[in-house]
Amino acid sequence: MMGLIFDMDGVLYRGSEPVEGAGELIRLLRGRRIPFIFLTNNSTKDPSMYREKLLSMGIDVSEERIVTSGLATRIYMEKHFEPGKILVIGGDGLLREMERLGWGVVGVEEARNGEWKDVKYVVVGLDPELTYEKLKYATLAIRNGARFIGTNPDTTYPAEDGLHPGAGAITAALKASTDVEPLIIGKPNEPAYEVAREKLDGVDEIWMVGDRLDTDIAFAKRFGMKAIMVLTGVNSLEDVERSGIRPDLVLPSVKELTGYIKAKLEEEG
Ligand SMILES: [Mg+2]
Repeated sequence: MMGLIFDMDGVLYRGSEPVEGAGELIRLLRGRRIPFIFLTNNSTKDPSMYREKLLSMGIDVSEERIVTSGLATRIYMEKHFEPGKILVIGGDGLLREMERLGWGVVGVEEARNGEWKDVKYVVVGLDPELTYEKLKYATLAIRNGARFIGTNPDTTYPAEDGLHPGAGAITAALKASTDVEPLIIGKPNEPAYEVAREKLDGVDEIWMVGDRLDTDIAFAKRFGMKAIMVLTGVNSLEDVERSGIRPDLVLPSVKELTGYIKAKLEEEG
């Protein structure tokens, strides 16, 4: 059976505007019982917050189908690492996921009291309230032996007025101050694939639908998924020609993907 992984921003919506046909596509998949999940590199919201956002745009999916890089970080840490205190640089979504681990989160107040010395993991995502002090304690903890983990590699975040600094820009600052290379969880890396694969248990062919060449499409190519690029987000056809990363299929938007999947289902009877 086939299954799909969708990136969200630039694929299903742009900002708070749904992409035309996104709701219909999701209804088709649910109606035909085709397995699918949403996988985003953004860690500032958690799945319940994304469910609300999607619902407001007419896309109704359960939380279980939504995987953020923050959730993927939690699942990966739970599976591979020993419990230990965590210092978080990130938004509310990431903070919630790290609290759910139950290993203890060290905030700035505690760090000021010297608790940065007990930190075993420094976990970094996009933090809209980043301060010098957070970078300072993260640097001290990593230099003291704490494991350095980044939720996603994106150095920029597309906003209405242009590109803002992404999680990758913050991990870059800490790389410079510590000389330590972080483990990065999100697309196009292996930990994100491991978590997504488990969610799509029983699926033998995965289609990855995304708008970004360096994360979504590179991720698909690296792990043997069918790479479907839509042109409603960050990258254009010219970028495809320039990049050397080749999607298997390029569509104007998810609207055309609905027709493509219907045709495939008919073909198979
Ligand atoms: Mg995207």
